[in-house]
Amino acid sequence: MSVNKILFVTSEIHPLIKTGGLADVSASLPKAIKALRRDIRILLPAYRSVLASIGPVQEIATFTCPPASEPVRLLETHLPGTSIKIWLVHSPAHFDRDGGPYLGPDGHDWPDNAERFTVFSRVAETLGMDQAGLSWRPELVHCNDWQGGLAVALLSRHAVRPATLFTIHNLAYQGLFPAETFHRLELPPDLWSMHGLEYYGQISFIKGGIAYADMISTVSPQYAQEICTPEFGCGLENLLRHRSDRLVGILNGADYKEWNPAKDPLIHQRYNAFSLHKKPANKTALQQHFGLTVDDTVPLVGMIGRLAEQKGFDLMLDALPQLLRQPVQLIVLGSGSRQLEEQLRQAVATYPGRVAAHFGYSEALAHQIEAGADIFLMPSRYEPCGLNQIYSLRYGTVPVVHRTGGLANTVVDATDETLRRGSATGFIFDEPTPAALLAALDRALACHRQPRAWKRLAYVGMQQEFGWRQSAHQYAELYQRTAALATARKPG
Ligand code: ADP
Repeated sequence: MSVNKILFVTSEIHPLIKTGGLADVSASLPKAIKALRRDIRILLPAYRSVLASIGPVQEIATFTCPPASEPVRLLETHLPGTSIKIWLVHSPAHFDRDGGPYLGPDGHDWPDNAERFTVFSRVAETLGMDQAGLSWRPELVHCNDWQGGLAVALLSRHAVRPATLFTIHNLAYQGLFPAETFHRLELPPDLWSMHGLEYYGQISFIKGGIAYADMISTVSPQYAQEICTPEFGCGLENLLRHRSDRLVGILNGADYKEWNPAKDPLIHQRYNAFSLHKKPANKTALQQHFGLTVDDTVPLVGMIGRLAEQKGFDLMLDALPQLLRQPVQLIVLGSGSRQLEEQLRQAVATYPGRVAAHFGYSEALAHQIEAGADIFLMPSRYEPCGLNQIYSLRYGTVPVVHRTGGLANTVVDATDETLRRGSATGFIFDEPTPAALLAALDRALACHRQPRAWKRLAYVGMQQEFGWRQSAHQYAELYQRTAALATARKPG
């Protein structure tokens, strides 16, 4: 019998609340699973901004939930544009406040993050065990990232319980808190052990997910292998290696309804693989918008992402003086580290008309850069999956990427052989260094000078399919496998 009822536990979801790729996955995967006729429901904290942006909600349950001192209310709404139910965890003391989902307005972690996501995970446990009076018992609870790690650990303690799948979207964010926190969280004492939540004297929420889940997944096959090594394992590589028979990688899909240059309402000029000649109008619009020299012949490099060490903006900045010895322009869209922002501002001031940046979050500009740039640069030091390179393929904007994680799984390097075979879609470099990045960009720029070869590369990229349909089938199979493992285990 197929796994039908699934509770999807996430701390962000597009378009309601987003800090990164998890939000995209949390909207797209449930939709794709629903299309496979599964009954999937989503659990999300009732952040103030979410409550403000959705319409009327219905209260469907109230229950006590340690360590929350007030009863928690469960509010029901729907994922916009769908019939998928979202259950919002309304605990005003924890979620009804100005600021981001994890950071306060000062840019620092909320001091009570451990309490906040313990309450969230307790609610997931309550619903997983059908103890909220909803008469809906999931067969599988799918938790994501450290914010849902405790839910897996808490569920594991029930003799009869739903199967648990834990998905790692980024291993570097672990939900680590001082040991003293443990007592405040009112968690079962036996969870505090070397084989449980304890991590070198601290409490680790992500470890709860990794140690106790029936199955673990991550968002690309390559990253699944990488996180079992000291270089990418963030200190959890031994545990992950130990559990490697339960660890799989499934590539995230792109939502091609939102990211399709033929139908994109946010771009200046729509186009498809057969009307690539229309794409340059987007470049002109972008150059004008950003105050760059308007020139169709100059290759335009785009970058979008969180300004974080992970994303390799510093590698690009180090390479910039040499890169700009040749005719090339650069546009950056990002938000995050103040220091990187400052360095980028300096680059913009040093190279007026050639380098531009927008700091902040802008869905419209992200689309316009994907459509208007010639080259999309993603020099991430590590990249669990990465979405922008997948979008850029669909927009005929040739990706230049570091060979890591999902970047390695989605871009085919242009070599003599792949060009001959017609499978090349971009340019890959092996070492995360400015020199290697420059060498790959040089190869890309040389190809750009040959319009026919370039057009072919863009065309092949546009044909690639990284939609959710095939990934959803893989998840449905994984749900099946996870449930079988959970059934096979001995209760206790
Ligand atoms: P991560 O989850 O590590 O941030 P991904 O590439 O998986 O990286 O997903 C990032 C998502 O966030 C993409 O949809 C990307 O377009 C979007 N994004 C990141 N930064 C910005 C920004 N400043 N403005 C608009 N969209 C952004």
